[in-house]
Amino acid sequence: MSETQYERESSREVGGATLRVVLGNIVGQHVDVIVNAANSSLLGGGGVDGAIHRTGGPDILEACRAIRARQGKCAPGQAVITPAGRLHAEHVVHTVGPVWRGGESGEPDLLRSAYSESFARAREAGARTIAFPSISTGAYRYPFRDATEVALATARAELAAHPDAFDEVRFVAFSARDFMIYQEVLEGT
Ligand code: ADP
Repeated sequence: MSETQYERESSREVGGATLRVVLGNIVGQHVDVIVNAANSSLLGGGGVDGAIHRTGGPDILEACRAIRARQGKCAPGQAVITPAGRLHAEHVVHTVGPVWRGGESGEPDLLRSAYSESFARAREAGARTIAFPSISTGAYRYPFRDATEVALATARAELAAHPDAFDEVRFVAFSARDFMIYQEVLEGT
């Protein structure tokens, strides 16, 4: 199956890598690593998590259960890696973002950590391309523009710290409005 043609996309070269924002579905991405906006249980949920398990099939959940049995829950700001089942990727990195509680409870640091730990798991697996959904901005209610600023700043910091690691870092917006915000933040930074 060939990759979805994006309705909309925008990109910037950062060092030797491409920072790209697209309008699309996270489960349709052809990349080395797809990032899942998981919850601490690692046992599935709604939103991105539900779509990844539905599309990727039972092997992903089985691998999550094994991690859960070995190390317990995944705390906010942490990330773990599994195979990607039937998704068009080598691995899924499952990260847990913070629940938004008004912004004074460490949410920005936890969100930054969710992105940087995801990059770390992907690098350890030798990934050169990675696609992220907008972590924490659905059920966890993190304000979208603030979350987008954290996401893109963390990606730029990652590409500066590890200039040879990634060829492409892709952010997948799920609505036209979300895409516009990504585009504004990408072009403004
Ligand atoms: P969280 O629990 O971290 O908030 P959610 O999965 O509820 O995670 O939502 C995170 C973001 O992903 C939201 O902005 C939501 O609109 C978006 N989203 C939901 N489903 C998909 C999908 N299939 N592909 C890409 N983005 C999605």
